[in-house]
Amino acid sequence: MDQNKIPQATAKRLPLYYRFLNSLNHQGKKRVSSKELSDAVKVDSATIRRDFSYFGALGKKGYGYNVEYLLGFFRKTLDQDELTEVALIGVGNLGTAFLHYNFLKNNNTKIVMAFDADPEKPGTDIDGIPIYHIDDLEEKMGDVRVAILTVPSGEAQGITNRLADYGIEGILNFTPARITVPSGVRVHHIDLAIELQALVYFLKHYPLDG
Ligand code: ATP
Repeated sequence: MDQNKIPQATAKRLPLYYRFLNSLNHQGKKRVSSKELSDAVKVDSATIRRDFSYFGALGKKGYGYNVEYLLGFFRKTLDQDELTEVALIGVGNLGTAFLHYNFLKNNNTKIVMAFDADPEKPGTDIDGIPIYHIDDLEEKMGDVRVAILTVPSGEAQGITNRLADYGIEGILNFTPARITVPSGVRVHHIDLAIELQALVYFLKHYPLDG
C-alpha cells in the first residue's frame, strides 16, 4: 500500500485507532463496528468509514471490521519495526516518570538522552539515560530528531525555537503551552484529559472480568 495516498488527516488518526483496536484485541474481540469505534475515539462514523476505505478495509454491514486485519495494517503503516531515538527536555515529575518508563516494551521508540536547566541534574542518569544541561542541547543531540517536552509552560517556546533551529522533526508537547514552529516541524500535543476520558469509556463499556 502506498502510504503517500493516505491523507494527512487520516494518518494522524491512525495511532488513535491503533490503540483502541489493540485493547479490543487484548480482550479477545474479533470485530468492531464503526459505531463502537466512533464512540471510543470520538471521530464520527462517516469519517471512520472513509479513513478505513484507504486501508482497503471495507466494513461489512452487520459485521463491522476485522480487528486483526486492521491491526496488521496499522502495525506496518506506523513503522513499528524501526527504532527511533528520542530526547526528553525537562526532568521534573512527568519527565522523570517517562525516563523510568520503558517505551520499548510497547513501541520502537527509545529515550536516549535528557536535558534540564537545574544545575544539580546534569552528570547524573536515570535508568542509564544520561541527563545533560540544557545549555549543551545542540552539542549533545547528534542525530536525534524527535523530542518530548516536559518543561514548565513558560519555557516551552524558547526550547522549541532552539530545537527547530537544530533541525528537530517532531515534538511531543506535554506542556499546556501552544507552541509555534516552522512549517517543517510536526508538533503533537498530548491532552491527558482526553486520555482519561478514553479510560473511563473502557471502564464503562468493557468491564474486565473478575
Ligand atoms: P512536572 O510535573 O510538570 O514535571 P515539576 O514540578 O516537576 O513539574 P516543572 O517546574 O514543571 O517541575 O519543571 C519541569 C522540569 O523542567 C524541572 O526539572 C526543571 O528544572 C526543568 N526546566 C525548567 N526550565 C527549563 C529549561 N529552560 N530547560 C530545560 N529544563 C527546564
